[in-house]
Amino acid sequence: NTSQPRLPSFLKHPIPSGKSYTSIKKDLRGLNLHTVCEEAKCPNIGDCWGGGKGAATATIMLMGDHCTRACRFCSVKTSKAPPPLDIHEPENTAEAISRWGLGYIVLTSVDRDDLLDGGAAHFASTIMKIKQKAPSILVEALTPDFANKGVEAIRQVATSGLDVFAHNVETVERCTPFVRDRRAGFEQSLAVLKEAKRAADEAGKDLLTKTSIMLGVGEEGHEIEETLKRLRENDVDVVTFGQYMRPTKGHMKVHRYVLPAEFDHWKEVAEGMGFLYVASGPLVRSSYKAGEFFIENVLK
Ligand code: SF4
Ligand code: SF4
Repeated sequence: NTSQPRLPSFLKHPIPSGKSYTSIKKDLRGLNLHTVCEEAKCPNIGDCWGGGKGAATATIMLMGDHCTRACRFCSVKTSKAPPPLDIHEPENTAEAISRWGLGYIVLTSVDRDDLLDGGAAHFASTIMKIKQKAPSILVEALTPDFANKGVEAIRQVATSGLDVFAHNVETVERCTPFVRDRRAGFEQSLAVLKEAKRAADEAGKDLLTKTSIMLGVGEEGHEIEETLKRLRENDVDVVTFGQYMRPTKGHMKVHRYVLPAEFDHWKEVAEGMGFLYVASGPLVRSSYKAGEFFIENVLK
């Protein structure tokens, strides 16, 4: 498409390297664990896996590779009726993660609107098993919205012992219908984040909530500010900003490439509004160096 802006040089990235990266990659062999980092050829793998001691971060996808939704920015395959859940996945994933030597694991999943609880019990069970086997590993869950599954689904995940509950609003409210699946909603996502925090508070558990915003899909500056305001009103602690990258020509177009200085600007604005920490940059993904950020801002 000729109206697509050209890829700027700051979005090109170096080949991953580093001592920690090499050893983490070696340990992965034989664990039968498939990471989003490798499968999506994420440009940040050197930064994330190479994080200093205890901070190395990786992302794992649960519940299969077919999503019941079809967001316009996402390259995951869609299916109305994905295969049933692998009931051994929580145990096997927890076992592999506990033997891997990471500091921080992000568990994410496709949306499973076909399941009665949206997969909440599966998520919660994986988290609990990881914490039983390796209590020092920090766990973040990047969850679906569990729409129409009742608040119980959100509460089950939020009280399962994880450290960070993440759910992405992805974009500003006005752009939501053009960016996300029609079953997703801006208000709905805010409500998920709010409920997760409330459930953890009521259960007496410490829990951070986190969300992610893609820039470059057509949003305007005042809308980003408004989004940040709404997130803070809903007790969201952490926000990340990254550039939308079009996975294939069948996906929605990039509206513009946002300059690094603008990412720095949004980081400053968000920090000024009271977010606990903010990751912001052209190549940032919601799980970008999550271990390092958590350790620097929460544990110290
Ligand atoms: Fe993996 Fe996320 Fe880091 Fe990419 S940003 S390497 S997917 S943890
Ligand atoms: Fe992709 Fe998530 Fe949308 Fe499914 S719900 S299509 S996995 S972004």
